[in-house]
Amino acid sequence: MIDLHAVRRDTPACYRQVFLDSAGSSLPPVGVLDEVIGHLHREAEIGGYRAANERLDDLEAGYGVFAELLGCEPDEVAFTDSATRSWLSAFDAVPLAEGDRVLVTEAEYHSNAIALLRRAADTGATVEPVPSDSVGALDVQALREMLDERVKLVSLVHVPTNGGLVNPVLEVAAAAHEVGALVLLDACQSIGQLPVRADELGVDIISGTGRKWLRGPRGTGMLVVRRAALERLHPRMVDAGTWHAPDKISLRDDARVFELWETGVAERLGLIAAARYALRLGVDAIASAVTDRADRLRAGLSGVDGVTVRDLGERRCGIVTFTVDGVDAEHVRDTLVSKGITVTVSRRGSTVLDMTRRGLHEVVRASPHYFVDDEQLDACVAEVAALRS
Ligand SMILES: *Cc1c(COP(=O)(O)O)cnc(C)c1O
Repeated sequence: MIDLHAVRRDTPACYRQVFLDSAGSSLPPVGVLDEVIGHLHREAEIGGYRAANERLDDLEAGYGVFAELLGCEPDEVAFTDSATRSWLSAFDAVPLAEGDRVLVTEAEYHSNAIALLRRAADTGATVEPVPSDSVGALDVQALREMLDERVKLVSLVHVPTNGGLVNPVLEVAAAAHEVGALVLLDACQSIGQLPVRADELGVDIISGTGRKWLRGPRGTGMLVVRRAALERLHPRMVDAGTWHAPDKISLRDDARVFELWETGVAERLGLIAAARYALRLGVDAIASAVTDRADRLRAGLSGVDGVTVRDLGERRCGIVTFTVDGVDAEHVRDTLVSKGITVTVSRRGSTVLDMTRRGLHEVVRASPHYFVDDEQLDACVAEVAALRS
């Protein structure tokens, strides 16, 4: 169980407002903030190289921390500057040629879709959405019918940016592997709120971010590439290697081949501190607390006349989306923000397949983390109800 008072004490800003945007950019625990700021000060005192050298052991330990969090080996972890950077560099390394197929979920995310369609145009590969089932999750039976040996990659969004749905992963990975396809899991909205373990889910590649549910700094991301998958990839945008002779190089042979040499060390240290914090609380305890908060918020909003909760799926998580009859999403957001309640708007352009299918243009997104208390959730429901009257 999460100790609500303790996690709230670690997050001083949560007393002053109702913060419901952990799916966007969450509030860091004080320890994360101290780590980042402390290192920036140290860089200012002795220069970035010496400051980094002082923390080499901690930076190295970070691979083990994320291996523990994400169910893999330390040499299967790479740090990047965003989830999209992670996703793009892995995707770019998947060999694709004319006639190859890539399957995606209807929850596919804007940044991934841009890269997918651009690469399809360049290579002659096709990008095909797998239909959703009656509750809105990826339809595993439909996936099975689409799979053949021309499918090189299944791009699976674990939790969409615009709803509380949790897509099945285990079943997708098993089916995809039967035809030899790689499975790339976009876990940007699940890492930090749900258990996401490569060993248990059976996926080949995982991309994630620091700033959302993990409560790390902006400008941080992580990538997991399982060893067997790495052998099938061809990383191109690389500087992680050795220049032996004027015309001779070799590349790193682990996941860190996807890292660039330069990085924000302060942010990296903050990210590692955020992961340690999550591990200390316990990922299962976090998941159950977040699900509780979201359930309470959904139940409250469902009871308000003229409010429609838009979350799909049987299994749900910490993202709560809704629309209010006759009030556009931006007005809902701005009004709530003016009352000290932070929510965001998710627009059609972020998830075009899903929003088009459902005929939606925008939804209000509220994403409570474990540090939000019941009173704050009820205050949000009350303010939404007030909008209607
Ligand atoms: C936020 C998000 C991303 C991209 O994250 P960046 O931090 O912008 O790189 C990818 N996928 C999903 C589902 C997201 O919600």
